[in-house]
Amino acid sequence: MTTLIKSSNEIKKVLAVSERPLGFIPTMGALHAGHISLIKAAREECKTVVVSNFVNPLQFGPDEDFKKYPRDPEKDYKICQEQKVDYVFAPSEDEIYPDDQSKKNIISLPLELSETLCGKSRIGHFEGVAIVIKKLFDIIKPDYAYFGEKDLQQLYIIRWLVKEYNLPIFVRACPIVRETSGLAFSSRNKHLSNEGKAVASNLYKALKAARANIKIGIFTVSKSMLESLIYLSRFPEIKVEYFEARNKVNFAKTDDNAKSGFYFFIAAKTNGVRLIDNIEV
Ligand code: AMP
Repeated sequence: MTTLIKSSNEIKKVLAVSERPLGFIPTMGALHAGHISLIKAAREECKTVVVSNFVNPLQFGPDEDFKKYPRDPEKDYKICQEQKVDYVFAPSEDEIYPDDQSKKNIISLPLELSETLCGKSRIGHFEGVAIVIKKLFDIIKPDYAYFGEKDLQQLYIIRWLVKEYNLPIFVRACPIVRETSGLAFSSRNKHLSNEGKAVASNLYKALKAARANIKIGIFTVSKSMLESLIYLSRFPEIKVEYFEARNKVNFAKTDDNAKSGFYFFIAAKTNGVRLIDNIEV
């Protein structure tokens, strides 16, 4: 049975007497195959599984798509039922941020994580992510928390958060789930037409080509990225925001002659919809 709970006190009460280990999947809803893979991973290793469904206003900038972000709580609940989730926690905004002051509290993050890649254009985004995840962790107190590698920069921030606050939580990273075209599942794909999705699948093609060019061994990191950017420039619908390489261990800029141990990251707007993706090299 899947129980829907909206109050923090209520979920704290039921979880205090729930079987452990407890697995937690934070989401912003509009669930898709990517979220389902996280739920399945939790179901496999935990006795109790909790999914949160909360579109967090603090991680959207003033000109971003908070209002337009896809929402479908009834469908999300059905998916959670099918996946045998025990509890769906769907708090109101007031439940998470009871007053104006609580919207202003921020966690200062290491700049190399928060002000690079997505953090450069989305000012305050990762601070918003960090605060909501910290609050959700405090309420749910999970043993395991599941995150997708699709939002890899976010995953680095979550790992930092857990370490910084000594939280007794194992962070599990789950691989990116893709459509057959290669396009990574994302709630924002709902804003794309079929043609838009077909065009957007070129982001993954460009990442794969960059990796292949490194593996062949004739291109440096920067030349591989340049080749992929030239490929993407054929599609006027795609406006690349960044294409960068970052080290796996410390997220620093990758040495131009590196052959492995890093990720390529891309963010681009396709027909006005902002998408991100990455690939390990
Ligand atoms: P969101 O609802 O977009 O905040 O995402 C909730 C969680 O699902 C995050 O940990 C995401 O990284 C993860 N996720 C989103 N899309 C995918 C995907 N295509 N593959 C794997 N995980 C994903």
